[in-house]
Amino acid sequence: MRAGSLSSIDATTGESRPRGKPVVLLVDDDIASLMMAEGPLEDAGFQVVQAVDGVEAVDQFNRHHPDLVIMDAVMPNMDGFEAIREIRKTNFGHHVPILMTTGLDDLESITRAYDEGATDFLTKPINFFILPYRVQYMLRSKETADELRSSQARLDNAQRIARLGHWEWDIGSDTANWSLEVARMFGFDKRLLYGSMESLFSKVDANKRQEIRMDTEQAVEAGKPITLEFNIQGELENDLRSVRLEAEPKIDSEGNCTHMLGTIQDITESAHAQKQIHDLAYYDLVTGLPNRAQLRENLAQALRLSERQDNQFALLFLDLDHFKQVNDTLGHDAGDDLLVQVSQRLSGVLRDSDTLSGPNNHDDDSASKNTVARIGGDEFVVLLGSINRAEDAARVAERIAESTSAPYTISDVEVAVTTTIGISVYPTDGRDSETLMKHADVAMYHAKENGRNGYQFYSTDIHEHALSRFSMERELKLAIEDNQLSLLYQPKLDMVTGETIGVEALARWNHPERGPISPTDFIPLAEETGLIMPLGKWVLEESTRQVQKWKDQGLGTFSVAINCSPVQFTRGNMIADIDEALKASQIDPNLLEIELTENLFLHNIENGIQLLNSLKGLGVQIAIDDFATGVSSLSYLKRLPVDKLKIDRAFVEELHVDKGDEAIVSAIVTLGHRLGLKIVAEGVELEEQYDILRKLKCNEIQGYYFSYPLSSDDFEQWVHDQHRPLVKTGTA
Ligand code: C2E
Ligand code: CA
Ligand code: CA
Repeated sequence: MRAGSLSSIDATTGESRPRGKPVVLLVDDDIASLMMAEGPLEDAGFQVVQAVDGVEAVDQFNRHHPDLVIMDAVMPNMDGFEAIREIRKTNFGHHVPILMTTGLDDLESITRAYDEGATDFLTKPINFFILPYRVQYMLRSKETADELRSSQARLDNAQRIARLGHWEWDIGSDTANWSLEVARMFGFDKRLLYGSMESLFSKVDANKRQEIRMDTEQAVEAGKPITLEFNIQGELENDLRSVRLEAEPKIDSEGNCTHMLGTIQDITESAHAQKQIHDLAYYDLVTGLPNRAQLRENLAQALRLSERQDNQFALLFLDLDHFKQVNDTLGHDAGDDLLVQVSQRLSGVLRDSDTLSGPNNHDDDSASKNTVARIGGDEFVVLLGSINRAEDAARVAERIAESTSAPYTISDVEVAVTTTIGISVYPTDGRDSETLMKHADVAMYHAKENGRNGYQFYSTDIHEHALSRFSMERELKLAIEDNQLSLLYQPKLDMVTGETIGVEALARWNHPERGPISPTDFIPLAEETGLIMPLGKWVLEESTRQVQKWKDQGLGTFSVAINCSPVQFTRGNMIADIDEALKASQIDPNLLEIELTENLFLHNIENGIQLLNSLKGLGVQIAIDDFATGVSSLSYLKRLPVDKLKIDRAFVEELHVDKGDEAIVSAIVTLGHRLGLKIVAEGVELEEQYDILRKLKCNEIQGYYFSYPLSSDDFEQWVHDQHRPLVKTGTA
């Protein structure tokens, strides 16, 4: 499953958004603008959700809670101004940045946009290249604003807690001034903020009063700073408060101390306050669990101890599956409630698991402790301070999975949540915090890929897998530049005449060291990395050139089918590329067949249809590849300007043994023919399959039964040899 696909954030399916990819809601009634903006935004690492009018925009906003909205001003149904107003009314819409785009650059609509709550403004035509930077910039400002809001609150808190007063003593006249806080601390009249220094000393605990007096006088004489701690009689009876006094002398030009300037802090509560400040910084407010900062410290301690004592310890990375769904459907309070309940269960599991700890884990400070921390939205980390074997960690993981998957009652609703867990173990999987965290995270992702609700240890296999992908990406890039790619051509035959009427071009990667690599291995990688764009362009140019060459040589007139990924349309400039290739090769556009899969229509049928129309405008043929394996909905088929359906090999494979498959193929043929479409069957390997397809009146066939995919030379030979298929006599 590709992490970037839109379906994975669909709120209705409950899939959670891939971490770290900001979602942008793109609203415009002009489909062309939508498509032009989508590519650059996706390339810049955003997930794009679209809407074509205000009503749909509000709906999409509520479903996806995007991080940012790009809103067209003038649209049918509900215009952008009204949509912004609606969005701002929602819970999630208060602070979301909204960028308004419009063709109107008059002052009035700019003012109006801001009045309705737009964050920023952009006049059309939009420079789509610049757009992602603008979006990134807006998101960064939003983050800064968010941080400011929370640090201001923290500062207020700290000042309220600090209880700090100041004072100044003029030694010549023996008068002292003090601040309101000092007056309050000492129980003085709050309207008289001055007196003698002795009035301050008089409040000092009798046992220490003389000592404090002398220390202060000595400091004045020596002209040195001083720090003293003592108790004073506070405002209330029997309220002894401990304070800390700090003072600095002010020295004149002759070297005499003329003043003492100082602070007095009530530290009775500062110990307590310090804990509060510490807690603010080190604990998660929602669950009361240690946060990432605290985890980091405990982890550092675990590392130090384990190094010294030669222990093993484990990190478990937990991710709640479907947490986002709860948050979205029941609200944030319910989400918080769920997090609290989960954290209680996790702590429970750890308490019960204390006995598993290694022999070194005594109840003293020399043993590293177990920690449950919440490090982000729905992510928890469990640190098992000391284990004997990796299996201990697996046991805890199992208990966590079991405990967290029992149903929860949240706002009177029963909710089910499951956990995916990734595990890394010191020292095998890493010898420093960062590596251990990273590897537990990687293992967690791997566990997710293998299906939810499970755990997975980090292994070098996973690592190697990731590495080899990385190097493969680099090599594929080189391969495209270095002409390591080639095309094979698999003949397609007319069912009635048995003539070779065309070929399907299939890409091959001839790796200099690893030998040939299958397209099923490198096409997905190319799609993910965007390398499919240059690759697809090359396939297009090479195959059309080849077919025209065969025609010029007199070998015959063949159509050529090429496979295209949806990405090439949504991110690349496929229409222009095809137009160019047609012109460059001079082939009859009718001979070029574009094979597309149903995935193209997955996200947005309307966009898909528009695309097909532009394609048809070039005069090429369109075939739906792997038909009936995807999200095919027969109902929209009649709206699509396509020419052919290519029945997937999966249905042909067991055609001769599985009556069900025969029924499906028969239905596809009947339906297709009624809609005026040609039916192509691929993957024909056996005579029996061929017989049935002929009986069902399939139009074109392709498969190993006739020929493997051939190099261009071999294909020429094949045609020369008049290598004809086993066409049965009689009408087909
Ligand atoms: P596809 O479009 O379904 O292509 C048909 C695949 O079935 C080809 O595999 C072909 O060699 C194989 N095949 C043909 N006849 C038979 C048969 O009788 N039996 C069996 N078992 N297999 C048969 P190939 O060449 O490995 O291509 C795999 C997939 O890679 C293609 O599936 C296509 O989706 C993708 N692909 C190949 N070339 C390109 C390309 O240039 N661009 C893009 N975007 N995708 C490509
Ligand atoms: Ca194909
Ligand atoms: Ca296929």
